[in-house]
Parts: sequence; C-alpha cells; structure tokens
Amino acid sequence: MITTGQCLCGAVRYRITAEPITTRACWCRLCQYIGAGSNTVNVGFPSSAITIEGTLADYRSVADSGNVMHRRFCPTCGTAMFSEAESRPHLIFVRAGTLDDREIARPAVIIWTSQAPSWACLDDSIPRIEGQPPPA
Ligand SMILES: [Zn+2]
Ligand SMILES: [Zn+2]
Repeated sequence: MITTGQCLCGAVRYRITAEPITTRACWCRLCQYIGAGSNTVNVGFPSSAITIEGTLADYRSVADSGNVMHRRFCPTCGTAMFSEAESRPHLIFVRAGTLDDREIARPAVIIWTSQAPSWACLDDSIPRIEGQPPPA
C-alpha cells in the first residue's frame, strides 16, 4: 500500500509505504487550536515507512503526560501535517486533511471527548475515549 499527501501549497509532500496502524479523531484542547475549532483526524504509520520532501517547521510542546511532542507544519501555508512523541519514535501521526485519499482516515476511535465543546458533532457509531488512549 502506498499513501501520498501534501500541504495546501504543495511545498511539502510525503509518501508512505506501509499500512496505517491506527486512525483517531482527537478533541484535545491543543488539537482544537490546530483544527481551527474542530477536532483533528490523525492516521498513525510506522515512521520508518515515510519519506518527506520539503521543509517543515516544528512546534515542540510538553503534554500533560510529560511526553515531549513535535507538531510539524508547512512554514509557507501553515498546514498542520505530522505529530510525533519523543517517547515513541517508531510512530508518526499524519493529519488526515493532507492525505490525497482521505477515505483511509475514517476514525476507529474518538479521543479526548472530555475536552470537546458542547456543540461538537460526534459520530455515535464510533467508540469514544474521554482522555488519552493506550499507546498504539
Ligand atoms: Zn505548504
Ligand atoms: Zn489532540
């Protein structure tokens, strides 16, 4: 399976040669900033299977769990593209909006629902977790 994607302006492109490991919609507070008010949808892949072309900017932050997170985005158009935890370098999460084929990103679980605003649209057919799920 080959998965491809890019940022809005096309300066950053990627190619992945592995199956997705997990798909999640995340309503954590930080994702609401990145998602412009809504959730983010993220597809986890083995980081060894991704090739990235172009220059990314990196926003580093420390999660409530103590994990150091890197959220990478295109410095030209601002599209959020990837997130990685230093504690789990084997895994990279791809922001689903950047995928050429978004159909592969149907969430298996909705996480951090405890942080969602009261007007959030949550799909009743998808399992929910109030906070952080166990590691993939
Ligand atoms: Zn861009
Ligand atoms: Zn989140």
